[in-house]
Amino acid sequence: MREAKLPAGFTERLRRLLPPERYADIEASFHRPKSTTFRVNPLKTDAQALHRELEVAGLRVQPVEWLPGAFRLSDPAQRRALTESNAFYEGRLYIQNLSSMLAPWLLDPRSGEQILDLAAAPGGKTLMMAGMMEDRGWLSAVEPVKERFHRLRRNIETAGATIIHTYLKDGRGVGRACPLMFDRVLLDAPCSSEAKFSTLRPESYAYWSPRKVKESQRLQKRLILSAWESLKPGGRLLYSTCSFAPEENEAVVDFLLKKKPEAKLLPVNVPVPNHMEGLTAWEKKRFDPTLQLTRRILPTEEMDGFFLALLKKRSV
Ligand code: SAM
Repeated sequence: MREAKLPAGFTERLRRLLPPERYADIEASFHRPKSTTFRVNPLKTDAQALHRELEVAGLRVQPVEWLPGAFRLSDPAQRRALTESNAFYEGRLYIQNLSSMLAPWLLDPRSGEQILDLAAAPGGKTLMMAGMMEDRGWLSAVEPVKERFHRLRRNIETAGATIIHTYLKDGRGVGRACPLMFDRVLLDAPCSSEAKFSTLRPESYAYWSPRKVKESQRLQKRLILSAWESLKPGGRLLYSTCSFAPEENEAVVDFLLKKKPEAKLLPVNVPVPNHMEGLTAWEKKRFDPTLQLTRRILPTEEMDGFFLALLKKRSV
C-alpha cells in the first residue's frame, strides 16, 4: 500500500500536460527508486579502464548504449559499494542521472572554447563539459549559494579539472558584467525540481505550490536574459530544468524569443524514445510555434524528467 501521496495540484497539472497513454507509467515512476547511473571522468581514466576497475572491485555495471562513457549499475544493492569505491573517491567517475548528461552533450562544448555555466553547483554538468573540452579552453562556473559553491569547488578538485574558474555570484548580473563573451552558455536553471519528486522522500515535494512555480519563473526569466547577454553572436545557449511546468520551461524560452529577435531555437535531437515535443500552448498562453523544437524527457526507471531547449544567437 502506498502511504505518501504527491500533491493533488501537481498531479492534476501533470495529467493535463502528459500524453494520456503515458500518464499511469510516469506517475508510477514517482513511487519507485531510480537506478544508479554514472559517467567516466575522461580527465582521469577512460571508459574501458573504469569498467575493468569496477569489475575487479566486484561491481556489476553496464555501458549505456546511446551515450559513450556512461554506465548503469546492474544491481541496485551495489550503490553503496559504488560510492565507497576508490574510483568514486578519486574522481574517476561521477554519479549523475542520464537526463542531466544530455544537457552538456547537446550543448557540445569544444576544446579551446570559452564556456559559461551560469548555475553550476554541485558541478555535474560543469565537469562533464570540462571532460568534453579535454580540459582545454576556459570554463566559468557561477553559483551564488555558499555551501553549494564550496561543494562545487571540492568536486572540481577531485575531478582534476584545471580550466574551471569559479565565481560565488548571482547569475543575474553576469550578462551585464561579461557581455558577448562566451561561445556557449549552459543555464541549468534553479527550478521547482518537480522531476525529482519521490514519494520515498516526501520532503522532496513538501514545499511545492503553484506559487513556487511562478517564483521560479521570475528568476529563470532574469537568468535567461543574463545568459543571453553573455553569449557571443553565433553562440549557443542550452536551457534546461528538472521541472515539468510549462511556466518554467516553454514560457521562459518564449519570453526570450519575444524579447530577442536574434534568438532562434534549434532542434533538440535526443537519442532516447522517452520524450515529447515542447508545447506551443498552455492554459491561456500561446507560445512561438518553434517551441515545438524543445524536448521534455519523460521519466523512466533510469531517467529523471527533464526539459531541454537549444538556442542559437543569430549574427544580425
Ligand atoms: N548544473 C548543476 C549540476 O549539474 O550539478 C545543477 C544546478 S541546480 C539545477 C541550480 C543551481 O542554481 C543551484 O545550485 C542553485 O543554488 C543555483 N542558483 C540559485 N539561484 C541562482 C542565481 N540567482 N544565479 C545563479 N545560480 C543560482
